[in-house]
Amino acid sequence: MGSAPGRPQGDKPQNTERASQPRSSRRRAQRASQPRSTRRRTTQRRNAKPRDARLPSSTPQAPAAEPVTGCLLIQVAAREPFEVLGLADRAGSGLVFTGAGAIEAMEAMRRHGWRRPMLADRRRYAGTTRVPGTASFVPSWLAGQRDAGISPVLTDSGYIGEGDVAALRSVLSQAAAAGADVTAVLPLHERWLHEDRATLIADIAAYGVPVALVLEHRDDPLGTPEGVAGLIELLRAAPSVAVLGTGIAGLAALAFGAQWTAVGVRGSLRLFPPTPSDDGTEHRKRRWRPAPREVVAAPVLSFGSLDTVVRAYAASEDGTVWACRCSRCRGRTPEWLAAAPALDADAHTFDVLLSYAERLRNREPGPAREQEWCAGCRQALRHYRELGLAGLGWEQPGVATAWASAEAAGCQPPLRSAG
Ligand SMILES: [Zn+2]
Repeated sequence: MGSAPGRPQGDKPQNTERASQPRSSRRRAQRASQPRSTRRRTTQRRNAKPRDARLPSSTPQAPAAEPVTGCLLIQVAAREPFEVLGLADRAGSGLVFTGAGAIEAMEAMRRHGWRRPMLADRRRYAGTTRVPGTASFVPSWLAGQRDAGISPVLTDSGYIGEGDVAALRSVLSQAAAAGADVTAVLPLHERWLHEDRATLIADIAAYGVPVALVLEHRDDPLGTPEGVAGLIELLRAAPSVAVLGTGIAGLAALAFGAQWTAVGVRGSLRLFPPTPSDDGTEHRKRRWRPAPREVVAAPVLSFGSLDTVVRAYAASEDGTVWACRCSRCRGRTPEWLAAAPALDADAHTFDVLLSYAERLRNREPGPAREQEWCAGCRQALRHYRELGLAGLGWEQPGVATAWASAEAAGCQPPLRSAG
């Protein structure tokens, strides 16, 4: 399926700012003149207040690769077609490669002159063969990222199950010992953000390492009141929190002070579901079938299958709210995407998300940015009602519902759905 970064075949990711970019050779020279360790930069990042997460303005001494702070990254497979990778080639974005081949993919992208942020999620924590959080990190995984000039280096953590304090502390202590450029990936049972969050927050503070959450849930971990309250409390308490493998809620996390977030390019990379069963029988029984193409339904701030979105548009009396101003749709309504190549649907989705993230970054970090997001959620719920989507079998958008009054968090119990 297309050309993967491990096997470049000539065509490069599209680059809308190529004229202003340094060439890869110049970048290599710059890198060679810098210490390999990015310790100083990382220390500055850790000392920075998390709510100051803004994109840096370009300066003459800008590092070879752009910093990841404030970015909404696109999480992709290690072998993703080049044209998909190109969707992340804009300011405020970048890539998270997933799986064992992630480091090779990043090296290939560097050779192609990619300068946007790149990270590597080993994802040893997922699936029926996942490893436990007490497992040791593989030294070559951390070293490979450093050799590729990646910052921050993400740990290849195992899964941290319900109440498994030993696994949590194993991941945090290994990450703390691995160096100042390391971010601890925390693949967490959902209870950690609910009942056990006091322990989670205390341990993160005790070890003092930046963390990247992967939140286990059957549906959307940040589309529930408990998940929202837990994430907000963690973001307010810990110096550096990021979120991997998420969906619409990646915007919410950015609005409330996350260092960076990664939204999966497809459904399987936006979700970290519990394993079906220990022996894997459910997996073996199920036949593979292609996942439905999903797009962002911009008026209601949620993902839906393209068919569902087109049907909702066709059923609406006034279709103007569906006209999309993203750079791919250019005012068209969603039925055009049904006949277009799949890449157009993905381009629509990430243009909508990245433009939204830009809108959030344009507000002052803190209350103004949080209110901007919550107001957007309330508008999405209004659209949901006005478009009569309940009558078409759509569930109320979970993330918008859960975050609609979240700016009140900390002052009063959050989360009544907005009226
Ligand atoms: Zn669009």
